[in-house]
Amino acid sequence: CGIVGYTGRRSCRELLLRGLERLEYRGYDSAGLALLHDDGRVETIHAVGNLSRLRAAVAAAAGSAGGEAESEALDAGEGRTPDDDATAAHTGIGHTRWATHGRVSEENAHPHCDPEGRVHIVLNGIVENWAELRTRLEARGNVFRSETDAEVVAHLIALHLDQGDPVEAVRRAYRELRGHYAFVALFAGRPGLLVAARKECPLVVGLGEGETFLASAIPAFLRHTRRIQLVEDDEIVVVTPQGARFERVAGALVEREVRLVDWDE
Ligand code: GLU
Repeated sequence: CGIVGYTGRRSCRELLLRGLERLEYRGYDSAGLALLHDDGRVETIHAVGNLSRLRAAVAAAAGSAGGEAESEALDAGEGRTPDDDATAAHTGIGHTRWATHGRVSEENAHPHCDPEGRVHIVLNGIVENWAELRTRLEARGNVFRSETDAEVVAHLIALHLDQGDPVEAVRRAYRELRGHYAFVALFAGRPGLLVAARKECPLVVGLGEGETFLASAIPAFLRHTRRIQLVEDDEIVVVTPQGARFERVAGALVEREVRLVDWDE
């Protein structure tokens, strides 16, 4: 239902939580974050219910000191978080879920990952051929932890990761998906990288100074930047702290205009 993503110079735990709060108006039943720490380790936190539950779970995982420091730095408008915070993560994704496939449960809350924890994704919308894909992956021995269509996409990207880099893996997975969805993937061991795509569901890039945002709607990051690029269907978007690269699924690079948002939240 709501997607946020960040990679850049700031530690993003609090940024992602606040981004999700800006998307709360859309409604949701559960939420979660995946934080890619600078040592390449991914931490995922899920909660059923509203974002205050997720916030509490995140604070418990981080130790309140780290969370408060990030919060204060954001409130002060500072573009930094303390370097001595061992829990800092500069790349992350977040999601508010409106369940369509599978019950409302902690296991079904996004982000989802493949069995080895290499690929983590948040997904909006619906993957129509998820059952067929899941059966194929199960025949290969993949074990699923949730009932969602989203987890299937994480497994599928991970499968293709054996044959190529993250961008190529997302490209190959995208070609196999049917439905209407938007997703953002992060990769264990690859700080500073998000790969995203969409089909008939909104997804937008926000360009900052040494930081780049992704979201399903502009209010998620409007406090941080007004410079945006819209993602279109059948594109793979490669996001780093320096900006976004747009490629057609077929392979060609695309020039995407930067627009200036002239409205306020
Ligand atoms: N189809 C996905 C699920 O049920 C995502 C739904 C949404 O847009 O939040 O988990």
